[in-house]
Amino acid sequence: MTVLRLDRSGGLAPGNKQFKLAPHLAAMAAGGHRRVLSFGGAWSNHVHALAAAGQAAGLQTVGVIRGERPEVLSATLAEASAWGMQLHFISRSDYRQRHDPGFIASLSRQLEVDYVIPEGGAGPLAVAGCRPLAEMIAARFQQGARVVIGVGTGTTLAGLAAALPVSFCVDGVLALRGAGALADSIAAWVEAAGTGGSARWRLHDNFHCGGFAHSNARLQTLMLGSERELGLPLEPVYTGKALLALHSMLASGAWSARDPVVLVHTGGLQGRRGYPWLD
Ligand SMILES: *Cc1c(COP(=O)(O)O)cnc(C)c1O
Repeated sequence: MTVLRLDRSGGLAPGNKQFKLAPHLAAMAAGGHRRVLSFGGAWSNHVHALAAAGQAAGLQTVGVIRGERPEVLSATLAEASAWGMQLHFISRSDYRQRHDPGFIASLSRQLEVDYVIPEGGAGPLAVAGCRPLAEMIAARFQQGARVVIGVGTGTTLAGLAAALPVSFCVDGVLALRGAGALADSIAAWVEAAGTGGSARWRLHDNFHCGGFAHSNARLQTLMLGSERELGLPLEPVYTGKALLALHSMLASGAWSARDPVVLVHTGGLQGRRGYPWLD
């Protein structure tokens, strides 16, 4: 197994988020936009990265955060706020409307933003932003490989599947339970990217460990072990589950140990602070 350590690049917006945000920042610059809004939870890597990247680019950022404002902000939101992000908390029921165009339009007016990025940075622009990542992988593993990656919105996986050659297979490990509809949006994004979509890809839906941000003893043991033995820091939401899937598939013989396997470390280590058992 080779680990592609994206967590080590991207500065304060590390991991896959550096690739997903880049085209949005470019579009804002090209369009003269100054103030951007996006959505996320208290430990969101996306919100955290947007706050950092926005500050670096001299843009105003607004985070629309799920749930009531807590007495003490999460470390993620405290940092985002220190980097200049305006935090706007909305109820969980309002948050469910985050994909509704009318709701987004009224929020945008209220918060006076001129650019909106969907939750998690999902969408075709970010899919295109992952092309340099695919090129980096293709250049490093010229014989092809199995590429294992944690999946939230599926945007990064779509970007890889759209741009990697046919000698690659992208294995996406779902961080959420019951994300069945995701395969359709990924297929549509790959198709819309219009780059051939020649790499094979598939989703694994049985390593979510109970659901988004849930973990179990097996995941915890594997993560603490990988940290101790390999010096590889992971977080439980995405990268830990990707490693769990990789281990299980190799152990069961479903994947041959002879074939090259690349684990994409998509970052997210800032979110470790939400898990006392990782201290
Ligand atoms: C956001 C994120 C993902 C999921 O990326 P998608 O493009 O939404 O599938 C995976 N890993 C980490 C660490 C992330 O922060």
